[in-house]
Amino acid sequence: MEEAPARKKTRLVAVEQKHTSVACSCGKVRVIFVPAIGYGEAATSKWRNECCCVDCYQKVTRSKGFNSPAVKKREQPVEILYFMNRMHVTGKEHLKFSKLRDDAMTINMTAKCCDTLLCGQSTRYHGNAVCTWPCAARFSSPLKHGGDPFDVTRLRCWIADWPKAKYEKLWSADKVPGWFMVRDKVHYHGAAAQELYDHFRHCLLFGPADEWPGESFEDLLAATRGGEVECLNLPEGAGSFRSPSVAPRHLR
Ligand SMILES: [Zn+2]
Ligand SMILES: [Zn+2]
Repeated sequence: MEEAPARKKTRLVAVEQKHTSVACSCGKVRVIFVPAIGYGEAATSKWRNECCCVDCYQKVTRSKGFNSPAVKKREQPVEILYFMNRMHVTGKEHLKFSKLRDDAMTINMTAKCCDTLLCGQSTRYHGNAVCTWPCAARFSSPLKHGGDPFDVTRLRCWIADWPKAKYEKLWSADKVPGWFMVRDKVHYHGAAAQELYDHFRHCLLFGPADEWPGESFEDLLAATRGGEVECLNLPEGAGSFRSPSVAPRHLR
């Protein structure tokens, strides 16, 4: 009777040591990101950003798998990793797709068994990439602290959404370049921010070849309740770029 859980645990650790994956809090759902050909078994992220937007903050902090006091206190922005849009998912029957509100840019894939945010998709990724928020769930990758060349912050996004004093603290500590928008126009802050932004957008133009194994975000969505995306109708967080009163003078 006592051996079964131990074996199960060993299997779980084996999966986490080998693959890059994200799992829900209760363990019923796991998403394994499919690695690019030639990169061994652990998927290497396409890109790493830190997001300051009010939507990311809202969605990660309400996820039951959320595990970052530093993000909660806004001492750290929300890490986002981007992978090729191919996944192996166990526990698909527990998937649910939703949007924070009607005009939100991202569709979120969550585990409804325990209300954990798993990954997301935006039209800005052109169907090529899928993103995940490591602090919102149980993220594991053998590459994470093991010399992944991509495991560095490239770019900070929507920096005008982050509270001014908190952003200034971050900026003085690490000078990570970032961008924000004012009325549909992108503005840049920090050395090489525009080049990095262009590079990031360029990366999103390339996706997995048709013969890659696994399923895309769109495949998984179509197979779940006929592609239904629930609109949560949550109020937008304070300080969004959509608020007309926001004039991010500290970023000029
Ligand atoms: Zn769960
Ligand atoms: Zn965001």
